[in-house]
Amino acid sequence: MIGKIKKIILDTLFPVICLGCRKNDCWLCEECFRGIPLRREQICPACENKTTVSGFLCISCQTGRKFLLDALISSVSYENQNVKKMVHYFKYRFVFSLSEPLARLQTKALLSHHIPLPRAIIPVPLHPRRLRWRGFNQALLLAEYISQNLAPPLKIPVLDILERRKYNKPQMELGNYQDRLENVRNLFKMRSGAVFDNIKGKTVYLIDDIATTGATLEECAKTLKESGVKKVIAVVIARQTLKK
Ligand SMILES: [Zn+2]
Ligand SMILES: [Zn+2]
Repeated sequence: MIGKIKKIILDTLFPVICLGCRKNDCWLCEECFRGIPLRREQICPACENKTTVSGFLCISCQTGRKFLLDALISSVSYENQNVKKMVHYFKYRFVFSLSEPLARLQTKALLSHHIPLPRAIIPVPLHPRRLRWRGFNQALLLAEYISQNLAPPLKIPVLDILERRKYNKPQMELGNYQDRLENVRNLFKMRSGAVFDNIKGKTVYLIDDIATTGATLEECAKTLKESGVKKVIAVVIARQTLKK
């Protein structure tokens, strides 16, 4: 509710114009959308060092296998000003309709990679307190768009089955890698009463907006694998590099 009131006030203060060219009366016009290039180079999510195909773990990180996320695809570059503006308006100015162009970028990126289609699409959950503040779970909105547009005839479902055990500080507020790891350790569990038999032994896509260290995604992957999921491919709009 508070999120909705904030949104109404903000909509009045900031009329809708294209964040890119300021010409058209939509948040991002088709021309500006097409001007955003997909990110070609993907890196191993564990060492964040080696370039890999579709953001899968590199060979050395696969051996010994302490890392549970199988791949992390970053759709576009966060350095792109239109991407940065859209993400900001989406998350902090509560413009939930921006989920559409943003998830469209994720869908376009997914279709450009040769990766298996998932059995289900799983959003990173918000804590109920955070959900009340924002009024919507941005990852769930992205997941819903991707589910409807990735391969429509297959009707790949969105399963909102993860839950946060406690309220933690937003990762954005933490400066270093170790603090971020600690902040999310054992944070997630399967939502009580969730039905997830159909994803056991299967591949799923895990959806979030922005990844920095990938610690949140890794913790979600851990929970999903403990529940029998075989492969977890995370897909984010973009990665933001942490200033070390
Ligand atoms: Zn435009
Ligand atoms: Zn690696």
